[in-house]
Amino acid sequence: MTTILALDIAGNPFRWLTPERAAYYQAANKVAWEIGEKVLVLRGGMNRLTGERSVIEIAPVIALAKSEGMAQWAQVALPLGHRNDLLFARDRHICAYCGERIERGQATRDHIMPRARGGRDVWENVVTAHRSCNERKGCRTPGEAGYELVYVPYAPCRSETFLLSGRNILFDQMVYLASRLPSHSRARN
Ligand SMILES: [Zn+2]
Repeated sequence: MTTILALDIAGNPFRWLTPERAAYYQAANKVAWEIGEKVLVLRGGMNRLTGERSVIEIAPVIALAKSEGMAQWAQVALPLGHRNDLLFARDRHICAYCGERIERGQATRDHIMPRARGGRDVWENVVTAHRSCNERKGCRTPGEAGYELVYVPYAPCRSETFLLSGRNILFDQMVYLASRLPSHSRARN
């Protein structure tokens, strides 16, 4: 299903919208500005006088009016939580310890500084690792285990988490989100 990328008035991405929800904003004149070729043509009810159906076209990226209050909130990176799918996507499904690509179902979340030793469950302390590499490392730091990190973990900015969310992203949406990535983001290449 096509989804519409909603921005706050400052251009920060904050939500994917269903076509119906986006059409509601459009019809209510709540779209402040938009980007990209119109992608959706929704047909509403039949006009009894003219016999014509109403049509709403929607751009793939829309900024919502009166959303100033969203800006500050929308710049905060999403917490890691239980979302291994985002973590694995951030790390391109590459094991941080052996550098090999990981087969589906073999990826684990490894805490660089183990949790048992005070390591926190945050983006900057976790990497994607093979189950076997993770177990071999055990309750040691990479240095103690003789491992070198193949890449550096980081907290994805909100634009990157939108890119990584695995949806069927439209070209204009991808270009918009990619233009907002910081230089350290692996999603840039
Ligand atoms: Zn590995």
